Amino acid sequence: MATNVRIPEPKIGDNYSSYPEFKTYLDAYSQQSYQVFVVLDSKKISTANKSRPKKPLPESLEVGYAKLTCTHYGQKETRKSKLPTGKRPKQSTIKTDCSAYIQLSGRWHGENACLEIIGLNLQHNHPLTSERYALHPMKRRLNSEEGEAVQLL
Ligand SMILES: [Zn+2]
Repeated sequence: MATNVRIPEPKIGDNYSSYPEFKTYLDAYSQQSYQVFVVLDSKKISTANKSRPKKPLPESLEVGYAKLTCTHYGQKETRKSKLPTGKRPKQSTIKTDCSAYIQLSGRWHGENACLEIIGLNLQHNHPLTSERYALHPMKRRLNSEEGEAVQLL
């Protein structure tokens, strides 16, 4: 259908001229595929540049490294033995130990710096449905908060 533009899946080697450009793409892809990714780890340009003194990355990338994981990433909380007796184990409905992730790193391609996808797994261990996606609290606009998170790191 001409009105339904498909966003291509990300793949290793895809690159973006800045983190906001990647986010714009990811937001569209997430909406199409009902996946929700959250930032697990990120490095500011200045931090990333400490390990690359010869050819530092430009500030225009905004982020030097980022790992985003599925919002269902993480161990299910089922460690009953560590809980005080008499208490019910805390059940997490969101963590399914999903291992889907996208990893980006600043790279030079000749004279052009870019953020490149260096690691990727889009296999989820849970259903991806529009119902789940619509209910998810993390799908709200994250741009400003992510900016702050990056500042803190
Ligand atoms: Zn997942």
